[in-house]
Amino acid sequence: MEGKQTKLVIAIDGFSSCGKSTMAKDIAKRMGYIYVDTGAMYRAVTLYALRNNWIKDDNIDKKNLIDSLDDIKISFQYNQENQSNITFLNGENIETEIRQLKVSDNVSIVAAIAEVRKHLVKLQQEFGKDAGVVMDGRDIGTVVFPNADLKIFMTADPLIRAQRRYDELKAKGDLVTIEEILANVEKRDHIDQTREESPLTKADDAITLDNSHLTPVEQTAQVMQWIKDKITEKDS
Ligand code: C5P
Repeated sequence: MEGKQTKLVIAIDGFSSCGKSTMAKDIAKRMGYIYVDTGAMYRAVTLYALRNNWIKDDNIDKKNLIDSLDDIKISFQYNQENQSNITFLNGENIETEIRQLKVSDNVSIVAAIAEVRKHLVKLQQEFGKDAGVVMDGRDIGTVVFPNADLKIFMTADPLIRAQRRYDELKAKGDLVTIEEILANVEKRDHIDQTREESPLTKADDAITLDNSHLTPVEQTAQVMQWIKDKITEKDS
C-alpha cells in the first residue's frame, strides 16, 4: 500500500501491555509511515528522574524534574525493515533499561504530572506534524491528535496482557513473576484512567479493538481493512 496515496495520521491508544507498539510498528512498516512510541518518552523521563534519585516510594521531587525537562533530550532510531525502535536519552541507548520493572513501576506517576505531559505532547505533535504517522500511547486520539484520521482503542483481558508482558521480559532474562507483572499492569491501568491530566479514555470516534482472542494475523487484517476504508473515504 506504499506509494503516493493519501497519508493518514493513525492514533493507537489503550491499556498497558495490549500489544499497541507491536501492532503500531507493523502497521507503520506496511504503510511506509513513521512510528512514534510515546510510552517510551514517558519511560525516558522516568529513567532520568530515577537516576537522579528524584523518586522515592511513589513520591517525586517534581520541582527538580520540571526544571530539568529541557535537559532531557529524547530521540528515536527506527528501522522500518526490521521494525526495531531504539530510544535514546541524551544520546545514550536506553531501550533495554526503560522496559525494566523499575521504570514500569514508576512511569505512571511521572506521566500524571501536568508539566511533563505538556512538554512531551508538544514534542509528539512536532514528530507527527506531517501525515504518514502511527503513534501509540494513552492520549493520542484525545489530546495529541484529536483530529487523527483513524483512532484505534486497544484493550485485552488484564491476565492475558500480564502473561504476554511476562513472556517478553522472561525471554530477555528478567527475573520477574507473573504476579508482579499483573500487579503492575493493574496499577498502571488504575493510575492512567484516574489521573486528572489527560486520563486514559477512549475518544468518541475511536474504534475499539479487543485482541484478547485475536491472533496477530487476524488483528493486522482488521486494522489494514480500516486503513483501506479510511483512505478510500478520504479520496472520494
Ligand atoms: O505504552 P507504555 O506502556 O510503554 O507506556 C508507559 C506509561 O507511560 C503508561 O503506563 C502511561 O502511564 C504513560 N503514558 C501516558 N501517555 C502516553 C503514553 C504513555 O501517560 N501517551
